[in-house]
Amino acid sequence: MKPIIGITPDYNAGDREDMGGKEPTYFLRARYVQAIEDAGGLPILLPLVIDKARQRQLLAQVDGLLITGSGSDLDPQLYGERQCVPFRQMSHQRSSLELGVSKLAYSENVPTLGICGGMQSLNVALGGTLIQDITVQHSTEIAHLPPGSATKKAHGLSITPRTLLHRIVRKLRIRVNSSHHQSVKKVPSRLLTSALAPDGVVEAIEAPHHPFFLGVQWHPEFLYKHDPIQKSLFQALVKAAKSFATSRALRSA
Ligand code: MN
Repeated sequence: MKPIIGITPDYNAGDREDMGGKEPTYFLRARYVQAIEDAGGLPILLPLVIDKARQRQLLAQVDGLLITGSGSDLDPQLYGERQCVPFRQMSHQRSSLELGVSKLAYSENVPTLGICGGMQSLNVALGGTLIQDITVQHSTEIAHLPPGSATKKAHGLSITPRTLLHRIVRKLRIRVNSSHHQSVKKVPSRLLTSALAPDGVVEAIEAPHHPFFLGVQWHPEFLYKHDPIQKSLFQALVKAAKSFATSRALRSA
């Protein structure tokens, strides 16, 4: 049996001309789904239910979670700030599901990988904050949102030794793509920083007291077909989900 990985989609509540116009519509780049399949998992797309009991029920159906990135950002009120730079806010439906299932997945030890905006959701779900715009609020020479393709490697990373991320990629320095204008600011006490860009921007976070709770600020789904290190992130998620499924089955037997 392949482990089931729930994937969060993007959502147009009816105000996005670029995503279906006035018709409420789900969106998900197929490469997220493909990456889970290619890593040996069975992907399922999660509906954006807001009710906490339904979120709990939904989480019980999956063995792992992939929280995806998107073009829109969390409402800063969700981390106790006012919006101070212009950007498009994520739909309430999506942020409710992402923050809700991230919190539950943390407390219930469900393996979870957050990518780009998904990493930011993991951070906010556990009480962290975000830099609303790197170019405005952080001094840097690095373009974290370079023009052109997300498939290009944009900057280096230094990885924190002996972290989950280090155990997966088995290197202390790698180069990654970059397609974000926000980043993690305060890392909450239950998480730690597992990778930094040379300018100090947080590029990965993880939960040391959880079997697999990892967020990466870059986009491995654009790189994994030609980069085994990036593929290993998805494979590690699927492997952790398989272990989780086995232990859950034993507990309920
Ligand atoms: Mn970056």
